Amino acid sequence: MGPGGHSKETWLLLIIFFVAAVMAPPPVRAAGVGAGAGAIAEASVAMTAVAGPVAGAGAGAGAGVSPGAGPGAGTGAGASSGAGVDGGAGGNQGAGAGTPASPSAGGADGPARVLGVSYAEANGRGTVTVSLAGPGKATWESFVLKNPLRLVVDIEGAVLLSRPEPLPVGDGIIDRVRIAQFNPNVVRLVIDLRQDAAYTISRPDEDPHKIAVVFPQRVTGIEFHEVDGRAEAVIRGTGKLEYKTSILISPPRIVVDLAGAVLVGNTTPMPVSHAIARQIRASQHSPETVRVVVDLARETTYSVFTSSDRPGEVVVDFGHRILGAAFATGLKSTRVSVKSTGLPEVKIARLVEPHRLVMDFEDSVLDSPDCTIEVGDGTVDRIRLAQFGPMTVRVVVDLPYYVGHSEAPGGGGPALDGSPWSETAVEIRRSPLYKKTIAIDPGHGGSDPGAIGSTGLREKDVTLDISKLIAARLREAGAKAVLTRSDDVSLFLPERVKVAADARADALVSVHANAGKTDGPSGTETLFCTNVPMSQRLAEHVQASLVKEIGLLDRGIRERPDLYVIREAKMPSCLVEVVFMSNVAEEVLLIDPAFRDKAARGIVDGIWSYFEWRLEAEVAGTKAKPGAEAGGGTGTATDAAPSAQAKAGDQAVSGHGDSTGTGVGPGPEAGTSLATDAATGAGAGAGAGAGTEAGAGDGAGGEAPHL
Ligand SMILES: [Zn+2]
Repeated sequence: MGPGGHSKETWLLLIIFFVAAVMAPPPVRAAGVGAGAGAIAEASVAMTAVAGPVAGAGAGAGAGVSPGAGPGAGTGAGASSGAGVDGGAGGNQGAGAGTPASPSAGGADGPARVLGVSYAEANGRGTVTVSLAGPGKATWESFVLKNPLRLVVDIEGAVLLSRPEPLPVGDGIIDRVRIAQFNPNVVRLVIDLRQDAAYTISRPDEDPHKIAVVFPQRVTGIEFHEVDGRAEAVIRGTGKLEYKTSILISPPRIVVDLAGAVLVGNTTPMPVSHAIARQIRASQHSPETVRVVVDLARETTYSVFTSSDRPGEVVVDFGHRILGAAFATGLKSTRVSVKSTGLPEVKIARLVEPHRLVMDFEDSVLDSPDCTIEVGDGTVDRIRLAQFGPMTVRVVVDLPYYVGHSEAPGGGGPALDGSPWSETAVEIRRSPLYKKTIAIDPGHGGSDPGAIGSTGLREKDVTLDISKLIAARLREAGAKAVLTRSDDVSLFLPERVKVAADARADALVSVHANAGKTDGPSGTETLFCTNVPMSQRLAEHVQASLVKEIGLLDRGIRERPDLYVIREAKMPSCLVEVVFMSNVAEEVLLIDPAFRDKAARGIVDGIWSYFEWRLEAEVAGTKAKPGAEAGGGTGTATDAAPSAQAKAGDQAVSGHGDSTGTGVGPGPEAGTSLATDAATGAGAGAGAGAGTEAGAGDGAGGEAPHL
């Protein structure tokens, strides 16, 4: 292969002539030559510390007169004569290094034959290898000469069978390699150097017929760039570079020291135009260490890594930059977005006590100091950004409650300076119940069991249990829930109303189970009184959601001005008859805790939906007032509200009790007349002419015993 070949390993093979005469130059002759060789007046250059097994023993230093005598003493005349040849000047350092142990010099078994010399790169280190053959074991000594800079390795007790052309290398340290018969007993290897570099010479364990001159790893270049929003400084070199990093301040900079390396690339500082870095530069900090400095625009965190995917590179990773966060408050949710360069990987977790969402952006650095964005819109309290780990930015969204979130499509676009940014967003669900006070009234209690089912199930127990489940769910949704009773106690109707009033409740929901005069009637209904106009809306929402959740017969909503609690309450209120306890199938359902929970969920959904509707109506109203298109806005909001159950009235027909006592002036002692009805049985209902489903209606049966 020619010198210009791209092969990593360029060999110059020597043609081997078998010439016995050449092979056997007597050591004595060599010694003679060596003796007079002092005329070659070349000063040796002190080499930098040499690592490795050969580590320039230096024993021969200054031993110009009888060069190599010390270390080579045991190796015989051949060895010492060679040393004399190179040195002349007497400065040969490391003479005979590695050879003293050699049991046989050329003199003992005849000269070693030099077959060739090659250059290759192993583990990023330029390696010049001299191949030998023959019984003789050559020894060597080395020294460095200046003007021009070159490393000389004299292989003693060796003959070169033919003189090859110089081997061009050009790896940044070595320009070319030459080899020649220096005198009859010494083959001289000359490595022309581009720059000073530590080296080691050894006989590789795996092949004692070789002599290897190994040079350090090289740092060949530095650069700074940003790819997909992720910035990095890259140190390019050969092999797997060892590195050590530190950060310095005043001015802020990152220092990467690469030990055992030689800088062969450009040493001019390179300006960088980036938010993080101003400049990157490299220098030969010490003979054996290359120092790369990234001058920072500001202090930042970073990480440094090497990867088998990127051989020869040491990467100073500055990651993605987290540019900031923002929020947008909507009717049903608040959108929290985090702006970044590129799209870093993000892990989102929900934590409780207190409620919060945590977004961890990996491989990212925060562009600004830690900061907090106050939100306080009823959905999000605040957003906090901090550098959580060296390369992790944590965004915490503090919540007053938690009712759900979803990841939202992110935006993106060019920033003012033209650099692109991306966005990671979450929609955090808003609870219309936040800061609302809801009074929940478990029907009956204490001495008043309410209806009693055929299995013995008592209405007062069922209503208390469902009410507690409702209260718990309301609190989860950010509401304040007040129970009119939380134990099995007797409570007069006015007391129930007073609890709600004292709590300044925004709504009151009384929970009951229905009872008919027969076991026929079934289904769900919700009762209201129009004294507070919004009560009908509340009843509509609760009825619709409850029916949707438990899936039983929808008996609709009905106006019942005769029921004390919902008539006297000063806030929107309704009375829910979940199912009929007088219907065995529905009573069995009520015994099941899972069904009670479903019922509670349905009722809470209804309360939620009512307040959401209120909110939408308010917002629409607010928007509408100033503008001409007022009607449109308001109308939209109104239309959006669930309409009342159209068939409510129809259903009512079948329930006899509904018509009973209408306007019978229940008075403060509410339901007195109803009590009478109840006491007298289904008569009233029957009188209403709705005989078929006689007895339906809690008012007719359930509530009366209170008073
Ligand atoms: Zn009841």
